Amino acid sequence: MQRFEAALNHETPDYVPISLFGGIFEVHFVPGMDVVRYGTSGANMAKAHIAFYETIGGDNIYCLSDMGLIVQGWGVRMKLPTEPDIHMALGKFPVKEPGDWEKLEVLDPRVDGRMRLYLDACKICHDKYGDRVPIGVSLPSPITTTTHVCSMEEVMVHMMMEPDALKKGLVTITQTVADFINECVANGAYFAGYLTTRASKEITTVEQYREFGAPSDEEVFKKTPGMVHIPHICGVEPMFEVVEDYKKKFKNVKAISWWDRGAKPNLKEAKAKYGKSLCLMAGIDHTNTLATGTPAEIDAEIKDACMTGMQGSGLILAPGCEVSPKTPWDNMKAAISAARKYGKY
Ligand SMILES: [Zn+2]
Repeated sequence: MQRFEAALNHETPDYVPISLFGGIFEVHFVPGMDVVRYGTSGANMAKAHIAFYETIGGDNIYCLSDMGLIVQGWGVRMKLPTEPDIHMALGKFPVKEPGDWEKLEVLDPRVDGRMRLYLDACKICHDKYGDRVPIGVSLPSPITTTTHVCSMEEVMVHMMMEPDALKKGLVTITQTVADFINECVANGAYFAGYLTTRASKEITTVEQYREFGAPSDEEVFKKTPGMVHIPHICGVEPMFEVVEDYKKKFKNVKAISWWDRGAKPNLKEAKAKYGKSLCLMAGIDHTNTLATGTPAEIDAEIKDACMTGMQGSGLILAPGCEVSPKTPWDNMKAAISAARKYGKY
């Protein structure tokens, strides 16, 4: 926790922390576990994350599920995976017309949807590790959530044609997301991988995001003072300027997580422009090096990331998004040992 916290606050840790974004990769660390059992029981989820943490290591535990936890509460049915190692997918969307947005009601994270999953998983992990290990939850922002109750296409149309209807839905979703986050904190979560994945310029314009995404993000940050937020944007042109504004306005926004090896800006550019204000969570290419490279290539990538980004603190080594379940264990282990080899302050 000290290592992770120091990096987030631009203080000097002993080593650059590393966070491996395991997700369903971690399912394999428990014999007999599968994605559905992992995704429907907090006890199973905790078992997988704890087994991964004990076997591979890293500097946090990161609860990560499919995108249905919240929106199942609004009637989204899940599609069971047809093959192993993929998440459950979202089924039919309840919001089809503009008038459907105001039919959504604020959910109770303790009973509605599948939000209980994180609450139970966080509690089990926190009971085991206390505050020694930062426990994170990966959850979608309100505007990201709109695209889980309605198709992305329709949401984009409503932004242009039916902004007031969409904003009504956002009010309900924002309250639900904030309540969910606060329940996670009450059960031991320390940080949120706050999935504001629509804040990428190939999806929305900065103006659109500032009108539809940012107000609800800011409302969430305001309502969840006990959570450390790490906005995660895994598109190709993440809006750093928006996240930097969040950081200026809210003490509980600390970092940004993005795919620095494939997106603009890369780590070097981000360090130069934003590295003094935002902690940067990046450095590992989950799509290439980690998934299909060799341990030696990962070693070289981590070395490069440390040389580029560790000076003056404010770096957490991490992949750009959830790692592939097919990633070799040896590569994950190589990432951890390289972080200890090159990340010493
Ligand atoms: Zn992502």
